[in-house]
Amino acid sequence: MPAPARSVAVPAVSPRLLATALLTVGLLLTLAYLVAFDQGAVSRSGMFLHELMHDGRHLLGVPCH
Ligand SMILES: [Zn+2]
Repeated sequence: MPAPARSVAVPAVSPRLLATALLTVGLLLTLAYLVAFDQGAVSRSGMFLHELMHDGRHLLGVPCH
Protein backbone atom coordinates (compact mmCIF):
# COMPACT_ATOMS: atom_id res chain seq x y z
CA MET A 1 0.00 0.00 0.00
CA PRO A 2 1.58 3.33 -1.05
CA ALA A 3 1.99 6.08 1.51
CA PRO A 4 -0.57 8.84 1.23
CA ALA A 5 0.69 11.88 -0.65
CA ARG A 6 1.46 14.86 1.52
CA SER A 7 0.86 18.38 0.40
CA VAL A 8 3.77 20.75 0.97
CA ALA A 9 3.18 24.47 1.06
CA VAL A 10 5.69 26.21 -1.21
CA PRO A 11 5.99 29.91 -0.50
CA ALA A 12 5.38 32.06 -3.53
CA VAL A 13 8.37 34.11 -4.67
CA SER A 14 7.57 37.11 -6.77
CA PRO A 15 9.52 37.51 -10.00
CA ARG A 16 10.60 40.97 -8.87
CA LEU A 17 12.09 39.62 -5.61
CA LEU A 18 13.84 36.83 -7.51
CA ALA A 19 15.28 39.30 -10.03
CA THR A 20 16.49 41.61 -7.26
CA ALA A 21 18.12 38.72 -5.40
CA LEU A 22 19.87 37.44 -8.53
CA LEU A 23 21.07 40.93 -9.43
CA THR A 24 22.44 41.48 -5.92
CA VAL A 25 24.28 38.15 -5.91
CA GLY A 26 25.65 38.90 -9.38
CA LEU A 27 26.94 42.30 -8.33
CA LEU A 28 28.57 40.90 -5.19
CA LEU A 29 30.26 38.11 -7.17
CA THR A 30 31.48 40.67 -9.70
CA LEU A 31 32.87 42.83 -6.89
CA ALA A 32 34.62 39.84 -5.32
CA TYR A 33 36.08 38.89 -8.68
CA LEU A 34 37.35 42.40 -9.39
CA VAL A 35 38.97 42.67 -5.95
CA ALA A 36 40.52 39.21 -6.29
CA PHE A 37 41.70 39.86 -9.83
CA ASP A 38 43.88 42.80 -8.76
CA GLN A 39 46.77 40.67 -7.42
CA GLY A 40 44.26 38.67 -5.42
CA ALA A 41 43.15 35.09 -5.00
CA VAL A 42 42.63 34.47 -8.73
CA SER A 43 46.03 35.88 -9.70
CA ARG A 44 47.69 32.42 -9.35
CA SER A 45 50.46 33.75 -7.16
CA GLY A 46 50.68 30.44 -5.28
CA MET A 47 49.44 32.02 -2.05
CA PHE A 48 45.71 31.39 -2.45
CA LEU A 49 44.71 31.48 1.22
CA HIS A 50 46.85 34.51 1.96
CA GLU A 51 45.39 36.36 -1.00
CA LEU A 52 41.86 35.29 -0.03
CA MET A 53 42.28 36.78 3.46
CA HIS A 54 43.87 39.86 1.94
CA ASP A 55 40.92 40.28 -0.44
CA GLY A 56 38.55 39.88 2.49
CA ARG A 57 40.28 42.75 4.28
CA HIS A 58 39.93 44.88 1.17
CA LEU A 59 36.23 44.04 0.85
CA LEU A 60 35.73 45.11 4.48
CA GLY A 61 37.48 48.40 3.74
CA VAL A 62 40.46 47.80 6.04
CA PRO A 63 43.46 49.74 4.72
CA CYS A 64 46.60 47.66 4.42
CA HIS A 65 48.77 49.01 1.62
ZN1 LIG B 1 45.94 45.04 0.55
